[in-house]
Amino acid sequence: MSTSQKLAGKIALVTGGNSGIGLATAQRFIAEGAYVFITGRRQAELDAAVQQLGDSAFGVQSDVSNLADLDRLFTVIKEQKGRLDVVFANAGIAEFAPVEAVTEAQYDRQFDINVKGLFFTVQKALPLLTDGSAIVLMASIVGSKGFESNSVYSATKAAIRSLARTLTSDLKARRIRVNAVSPGPIETPGLNSVLDSPEQVAAFKAQMVTTVPLGRIGDADEIAKAVVFLASDDSSFVTGVELFVDGGMAQV
Ligand code: NAD
Repeated sequence: MSTSQKLAGKIALVTGGNSGIGLATAQRFIAEGAYVFITGRRQAELDAAVQQLGDSAFGVQSDVSNLADLDRLFTVIKEQKGRLDVVFANAGIAEFAPVEAVTEAQYDRQFDINVKGLFFTVQKALPLLTDGSAIVLMASIVGSKGFESNSVYSATKAAIRSLARTLTSDLKARRIRVNAVSPGPIETPGLNSVLDSPEQVAAFKAQMVTTVPLGRIGDADEIAKAVVFLASDDSSFVTGVELFVDGGMAQV
């Protein structure tokens, strides 16, 4: 094993690791020497992802908004590896609607998965996390900027920005670093699924050419590289921050 690997020997968890940014990050973690547990809600997608990732990955079907599922997940990790060094709390959903049209079910789903699911993933990981380990929370640029028809999703991501700061304080005695990553628009199945048609996807991408200072939407791997930075010793004196990986969108 090369000594240049940034996560050599580390045990990592990536929630929502079977698709999009989570899958790209699991790939990067493994390339950097980690063993990775990935979770997702659908067994078939999880199996396909594990097959793609190879022997250094293990999939556990688990809904982050279901606390019994989370308990089972951490029992599996404890039995198999006995500890965790990195948690990437990535699982999340977006449902866009104008404020007048948002239903209670949409509101509850997004808060249940994005905020409650993320919070309890972290809380229930704590007994397994080694002192000095790293937690990366998936936020979004929408947590700090206003976009039309994004009210509930944006509020969930703003809550996550706040959690990065407060959890840093709560976990300081154990020197556990907690940071958030905030992507701009990234090409993933998740992004495409919130737009209603291929025409809407094309129109969105065309709009981003002028909205994003770097003139394009990003790739999942560009987020994965930033998460490796926050998860590894390369960021050993970085905690409580929100790292924007957004082509400059947060600055305009
Ligand atoms: P994706 O749909 O490709 O991936 C989402 C992942 O989360 C999937 O693996 C899915 O199985 C999992 N997931 C959803 N609900 C879950 C639940 N209840 N329990 C367990 N897993 C669950 O989408 P993506 O774009 O890769 O999104 C990943 C994260 O990145 C999300 O939190 C999203 O809000 C965030 N994000 C995405 C973008 C973007 O433009 N794609 C931008 C900013 C932030």
